[in-house]
Amino acid sequence: MKKYNFGAGPSILPQEVMKATAEACVDFNGIGLSLMEMSHRSKEFQAVIDEAQDLMKELLGVPEGYSVLFLGGGASLEFCMVPYNFLENKAAYVNTGVWATKAVKEAKLFGEVVEVASSKDKNFTYYPKNFEIPQDADYLHVTSNNTIYGTEYLKDFESPIPVICDMSSDILSRPVDVSKYTMIYGGAQKNISMAGVTFVIVKDEALGKVSRAIPTMLDYRTHIKKGSMFNTPPVIPIYSALQTLRWIKAQGGVVEMDRRAQERADLLYAEIDRNKCFKGTAVKEDRSRMNICFIMTDEYKDLEAEFLAFALERGIWGIKGHRDVGGFRASCYNAMPVEGVKALIACMQEFEEKH
Ligand code: PMP
Repeated sequence: MKKYNFGAGPSILPQEVMKATAEACVDFNGIGLSLMEMSHRSKEFQAVIDEAQDLMKELLGVPEGYSVLFLGGGASLEFCMVPYNFLENKAAYVNTGVWATKAVKEAKLFGEVVEVASSKDKNFTYYPKNFEIPQDADYLHVTSNNTIYGTEYLKDFESPIPVICDMSSDILSRPVDVSKYTMIYGGAQKNISMAGVTFVIVKDEALGKVSRAIPTMLDYRTHIKKGSMFNTPPVIPIYSALQTLRWIKAQGGVVEMDRRAQERADLLYAEIDRNKCFKGTAVKEDRSRMNICFIMTDEYKDLEAEFLAFALERGIWGIKGHRDVGGFRASCYNAMPVEGVKALIACMQEFEEKH
């Protein structure tokens, strides 16, 4: 039976990417060595990281003056590196969920943090808008897609101060005007690669403005200077990222990823709104196209476990919702084919008929 992986991350990747990565682990480019055992300083790996950086720039239209980095530590380490490198006096944060809350916590170690807006009052089911941004803050930190609650801000953020955005769960799913951001970052284990690599797109001239001393490994300038190779980078996850970036380009780039994301989301939300057994959790105008969250309607609320088992029997994997929201979460990252969404919809309809 065909299986569809709706897991929130690590998550679905194109079959071609997994096959090419597996092959490189056995015999890289037919040279008779595994990429795992090759020096990251070899010209072969240099070509991999160079192409991955170039493709990130090409696919996202990254302007001159920005660097693309592939680092370790996950998005969680960026929660600390961002204030280390950018927070001199005060920073503004928008709190849209668990991850944003963690980012706030780290920033507080470095200076004053103003939470300019929060959707905590309604369990993060909407995206706050029209909030005031203090002109004297060093930067505004936002999370474009909230993986746990299924809310997403689909436009670029407008701000009078530099914007730093966690795009862990919606990077490369639509065109972004990178020039509007001072930095974009995220864990790659959703739309780009396997776990183990973090992407950073940073405006070079914004660095070096804080007065504190920064440990070498936590200073973005170290990694820019050394082309992401100050120390041994996660070579296999970077190789897998390269394969995904090539795949995205071959499919038609972020414009095509955007079209597919909209198609999947339109189909699945239409079914959630129609089906008597289910209802969405996020407010309609802020619904995420990447993490589609829904619960049972009150009348059927005792059937949650039954639906999970029912779906699993039909090849639908990973739709159990995060414990903070409950219910279900269908993560529909770039690699999710529309057939997967149609299979989930068919399963929801069959379940409705059964009851
Ligand atoms: N930010 C967001 C929006 C996330 O979804 C996640 C992980 N799911 C993180 C940050 C943390 O990423 P990591 O596990 O790579 O530290």
